[in-house]
Amino acid sequence: MPNNTMRVIVSLALAAIAALMIRMASAQQQDFSKVEIKVTKVSGNIYMLEGAGGNIAASVGEDGIVLIDDQFAPLAEKIQAALKNIGVTDKPVRFVINTHYHGDHTGGNEALNNAGSTLIAHDNVRKRLESGGPAGNGGSIKMDNKPAAKAALPIITFQHDVTIHLNGEDIHAMHFPSGHTDGDSIIFFPKNNVVHMGDDFVRYGFPFVDVTAGGSVQGIIDAMEKTTAQLPADAKVIPGHGALSNLDDVRAYTKMLKETSAVVQKALDDHKTLDQMKQAKILASWEKFSGQFVNTDAYIETLYNSLTGHKGEFLKHN
Ligand SMILES: [Zn+2]
Repeated sequence: MPNNTMRVIVSLALAAIAALMIRMASAQQQDFSKVEIKVTKVSGNIYMLEGAGGNIAASVGEDGIVLIDDQFAPLAEKIQAALKNIGVTDKPVRFVINTHYHGDHTGGNEALNNAGSTLIAHDNVRKRLESGGPAGNGGSIKMDNKPAAKAALPIITFQHDVTIHLNGEDIHAMHFPSGHTDGDSIIFFPKNNVVHMGDDFVRYGFPFVDVTAGGSVQGIIDAMEKTTAQLPADAKVIPGHGALSNLDDVRAYTKMLKETSAVVQKALDDHKTLDQMKQAKILASWEKFSGQFVNTDAYIETLYNSLTGHKGEFLKHN
């Protein structure tokens, strides 16, 4: 191997390690004491709560509160206080549905369970929380999850879908396989015409797909197409991360996922290696989606691993 090629490889490896260390450090050192919970009324009795981590949806009404996701553990008290502040009900959070197992969506589970809420999620959410284990895009983005405490585990799980009949609404959680993870649900509030898409739909650019935990870009595309086909045109969309959205935003995101998948699929058909795809900058036209968390190279890895079936261990449903 020529000396300068070696040097390039070493410096690329060092850059990758540095990027990974920054990501891990920012997750561990986040100062939650300064986080404020912002509450937005989405429609009727549905609210969106933003703090740190994934967006929360709340159905707040005469029967009590149903939460979709619960961010990080240190925020649980602030979230409870923000819900009380809405001034609609003093009744507690009766149910929490987790859209998937990641800690920025399930971190408040233990505190809410201890306060009397019932935790609900897809079968694989419970399995992955219980076992812990590696997560990542199958390439340069790698994390390791510790097993969750027993009190953080959903005690009601479902394989396909579940409905909670509260506050005059049929709150419907539906599983879509192999999307952001292997345990994602999208939550529909039909009376209020609102949907919470979990991390199958995010606004921070190229999505992080937990290929190591059975996710795939194709599964996300499938979930987005099926969901947009069944929702009214003026549905309000709560993304897993980012600002309140509409179906046009979802369609634009889906289009990007499909176009970038096609480019990587073509490169695979042309027998290009992963490194050749990165060097040829095959996704240069989508550079505006490159972010701090998932940059273009990490997203090429994600597509490569999704399309070649390097999906990590896939948990079977029962
Ligand atoms: Zn996630």
